[in-house]
Amino acid sequence: MIFHQLQNELDERAAQGLLRQRRTLQTPQSPHIVVDGKPYLAFSSNDYLGLANNPQLIAALQQGAAKWGVGAGAAHLVNGHFTPHHELEQSLAAFVGKPAALLFSTGFMANLGVVQALVGKDDTVFADKLNHASLNDAMLLSRATVQRYRHGDTVQLDSLLAKKQSGRKLVITDAVFSMDGDLAQLAELLALCEQHDAWLLVDDAHGFGVLGAQGRGSLAHFGLASPRIILMGTLGKAAGVSGAFVAAEQVVIDTLVNSARSYVYTTATPPALSVALLASLQLIEQGDTLRMHLGGLIAMLRKGMSDLPWQLMPSDTAIQPLLIGDNKQALALSEGLRARGIWVAAIRPPTVPQGTARLRITLSAAHTEADVQCLIGALHELAQEP
Ligand SMILES: *Cc1c(COP(=O)(O)O)cnc(C)c1O
Repeated sequence: MIFHQLQNELDERAAQGLLRQRRTLQTPQSPHIVVDGKPYLAFSSNDYLGLANNPQLIAALQQGAAKWGVGAGAAHLVNGHFTPHHELEQSLAAFVGKPAALLFSTGFMANLGVVQALVGKDDTVFADKLNHASLNDAMLLSRATVQRYRHGDTVQLDSLLAKKQSGRKLVITDAVFSMDGDLAQLAELLALCEQHDAWLLVDDAHGFGVLGAQGRGSLAHFGLASPRIILMGTLGKAAGVSGAFVAAEQVVIDTLVNSARSYVYTTATPPALSVALLASLQLIEQGDTLRMHLGGLIAMLRKGMSDLPWQLMPSDTAIQPLLIGDNKQALALSEGLRARGIWVAAIRPPTVPQGTARLRITLSAAHTEADVQCLIGALHELAQEP
């Protein structure tokens, strides 16, 4: 029986400390959540600016719903493309300094759509080994030849690019690696793309809203601009709402409108979400105080964790993983924190490579210094335990 097989597979996962389970939040996203009736101080969301429960954005969403209803009712190419979608695309393009932008329902769908629309079986995709799952799936779905390079190894990428003489070349990378928090060397990657006439797809899920002047993202952080760069940003992390966009040259966007399957064959997001996102974009642009505060918390946490027995990974971003290694030990630590009223997710394979299970600590501008001290204190207590 197939059910039997499935159950055995799940049991096997559980035995390895790899079973995944959901926990139901009984409060909105914030540093203070309630799960199973118990309050926790949480360090696990990607809500880096604390906008997911922002009163101005709640009001914008309510007004958006009052004006535009709750559903788009159709795909963008049929009759589901509304004024707020269009205004948001124009604002996003201007914000990131690109000629045009296109909204997608999620970042996962944006990555699937872009890669599949731009390359096919005669082409080659070059990908960092630690890229997000959605980029990995996107390249497989595109039917292009796949060449993965070691994390951050631009020398290896150079030699792989040099070997490829025919077809389109597309380099794809996370800008901020989602489970490690480190930055891709985007300037070096762009230089290689120029040298080898390749495109560069930058997934800025964790940089948009947080890095660069006014939160314009990783390209602004590095001072990079090039028509070769196709930028994907998500709108459910720092922006606090939901969705994603791709920003690029007009001809690239027109190509996506015509052939990105995850754009063409899906219902448009509710226009009210775009109303909320237009307001979010303003908060991001004016959010220097939030970003400064976040930067201070990151420095405080790194300093406070520097003498722990677990390896602090080299990250300057709001993603601060603590490398544990063993799956069960990572789980036990996560549970130890939970017993102390602190919520930090243990991230295990296959999300991260075997033997690199970790606590993925994320900070938000909604945290206080006292919150961060509380986490530091709890980690030190657990480090003392046998
Ligand atoms: C979260 C994430 C995505 C997916 O974005 P969603 O909008 O959540 O679907 C894509 N890439 C990276 C690097 C991410 O961290």
